[in-house]
Amino acid sequence: MNAKLIDGKAVSAALREQMKAEVAALAEEGITPGLAVVLVGEDPASQVYVRNKEKACEELGIYSEKYLLPTETTQEELLTLVDKLNRKPDIDGILVQLPLPGHLDEKAVIAAISPEKDVDAFHAQNVGKIMIGDYKFLPCTPAGVMELLHAAQIEVKGKECVVIGRSNIVGKPMAMLLLHQHGTVTICHSRTRNLAEVTRRADILIAAVGKAKFVTADMVKPGATVIDVGMNRDENGKLCGDVDFGAVCEVAGAITPVPGGVGPMTITMLMKNTIAAAKR
Ligand code: NAP
Repeated sequence: MNAKLIDGKAVSAALREQMKAEVAALAEEGITPGLAVVLVGEDPASQVYVRNKEKACEELGIYSEKYLLPTETTQEELLTLVDKLNRKPDIDGILVQLPLPGHLDEKAVIAAISPEKDVDAFHAQNVGKIMIGDYKFLPCTPAGVMELLHAAQIEVKGKECVVIGRSNIVGKPMAMLLLHQHGTVTICHSRTRNLAEVTRRADILIAAVGKAKFVTADMVKPGATVIDVGMNRDENGKLCGDVDFGAVCEVAGAITPVPGGVGPMTITMLMKNTIAAAKR
């Protein structure tokens, strides 16, 4: 293996230590950050994410409330809960776990969350602020990637950055954050022609596709930094990313593993946003 491993667990642990101290300092001023997590239905992956968020709150001394609603919850019931949480003074951040069951209107639910409490940064107002570079909250996964690059001392300025994926929660905001850091950014998607040709230009390659082993060694420029956002299951049901890790390690200069790369950073950034909301 040639590539240097970017250890998301270690970076995340160091950030959480800093955050613990911040939460303790806030407690001395009588402030306890509070996060409400809402889960509708029984999707097993979502249940794991919600449990992990609850655990992270406990670890850092953040107050948390969990609302587990049945699959048949109506739009009106969910909006009533969001409205209640918007007004609840001990709650600084509201997270509605996505995806929601099909009969619920995700866009309307996100729009109903107070932008001040939108710790996922999915509300149109916060998305717009990211676009103009005047943001209070950064979306957790792309923000986590930026922290990893920073921790690994990989400068973005002037570099060719290629993002594979253009979703609203990962690809698009990821591209915007790289642009704010003066990267030269290309966004690829399912209609991109000659994908490998484009990705081979990248000094920094970010994969957010959702397909196991999608990024192969021939798609990577020797020495490039490869960040794997993907969270997939391989043929044996094992968690894996979008990158063919073993082969790409031989070509890349630095790489994030899955698990233990971007994943741990996402929840840590959620905690960061909740603390920031409480400070305000
Ligand atoms: P998504 O909404 O499904 O978006 C996938 C993107 O990949 C789309 O833009 C799609 O293009 C593009 N794509 C699909 N096939 C392609 C191909 N053959 N060539 C080029 N591009 C292709 O997924 P997402 O929500 O962004 O998530 C992406 C991955 O990240 C998933 O594995 C997800 O589980 C993971 N994830 C991880 C974290 C974490 O904390 N680590 C957080 C969020 C997501 P089109 O737009 O043209 O369809």
